[in-house]
Amino acid sequence: MNPLTIFASRFVAGERPEDAIRAGERLHAKGIKATFDKLGEDVTDAPAAKRATEASVELLQLIPKGIERNISIKMSSMGQGISRDLCLENVSSILECARAVGGFVRLDMEGSRLTQDTVEIFHELRKRHDNVGLVLQAMLHRTPDDVKEAVRRGDRIRLCKGAYSEPASVALQDMADIRTAFSACAQLLLDEGNYPAIATHDEALVTGTVDYARAQKIPSSRFEFQMLYGLRRSRWEELVAGGHNVRIYVPFGTHWIPYFYRRLRERRENVAFVLKNLFR
Ligand SMILES: Cc1cc2nc3c(=O)[nH]c(=O)nc-3n(C[C@H](O)[C@H](O)[C@H](O)COP(=O)(O)OP(=O)(O)OC[C@H]3O[C@@H](n4cnc5c(N)ncnc54)[C@H](O)[C@@H]3O)c2cc1C
Repeated sequence: MNPLTIFASRFVAGERPEDAIRAGERLHAKGIKATFDKLGEDVTDAPAAKRATEASVELLQLIPKGIERNISIKMSSMGQGISRDLCLENVSSILECARAVGGFVRLDMEGSRLTQDTVEIFHELRKRHDNVGLVLQAMLHRTPDDVKEAVRRGDRIRLCKGAYSEPASVALQDMADIRTAFSACAQLLLDEGNYPAIATHDEALVTGTVDYARAQKIPSSRFEFQMLYGLRRSRWEELVAGGHNVRIYVPFGTHWIPYFYRRLRERRENVAFVLKNLFR
């Protein structure tokens, strides 16, 4: 690992797939699931998109039996910015591999300029694949409609707040409003969704989900919590001890800067952690 990576190592499991898989095995030993993400985004040439595709296929094949073969990928690294056909071809080959190894692939959601295109790509893939899910971002004005549509279609959704800076024309700006929107979408997904993933570290939303599921008698087997590697570790174990499914997003790779930057932007404690280590 290069020296800078030491600062990112709280949020990134390492540079190689083996590092991430080792983290996944440690989680597995505690009854916690993982989704593995080879970091990378905004690929601008077809050979690089092909390399990202091959890396995802290799990753799926590398995850040992016993650990769920669950990965997350970004459409912008699969050629979305080059052509729809290229992106579909690349992601389809990942999904074929996932089918062969009994795996599951989640399409991460990126900035709002890619949302409609990503939803359309997902719908196209869903015509031939069951083992693919999508992410929806509670902060976007369009998301309540997307959630209703996903529930109607039986799509598997990960709900998160949204990590990208967005203008008021497309997204809520106030955290209280984002929380309210998140809760409403989460409740729709819990009521009628197909094994939704509630992805947040926000205690009000985590507790709100636990309470809502209990009040509505929704069994904990019908949904899962998701959190990011390095954030709220003790809460993962508490949720598992309480009978909940928990999956951790385990990123790895050398292209960690944009991901790392988004984590720093989100929370002051994350910046404090990096600064503390800088002066150690
Ligand atoms: C598994 C996963 C996958 C994701 N995938 C995507 C994606 O595809 N696209 C995308 O745009 N975004 C994604 N995100 C990021 C997400 O959109 C948010 O940017 C990120 O999760 C921060 O929002 P938050 O709800 O977790 O809490 P924050 O907004 O960071 O925190 C809100 C509040 O939560 C409480 N809280 C947070 N951390 C702690 C703590 N450690 N201890 C106690 N209280 C705490 C505090 O009250 C805090 O003020 C993903 C997130 C997760 C967890």
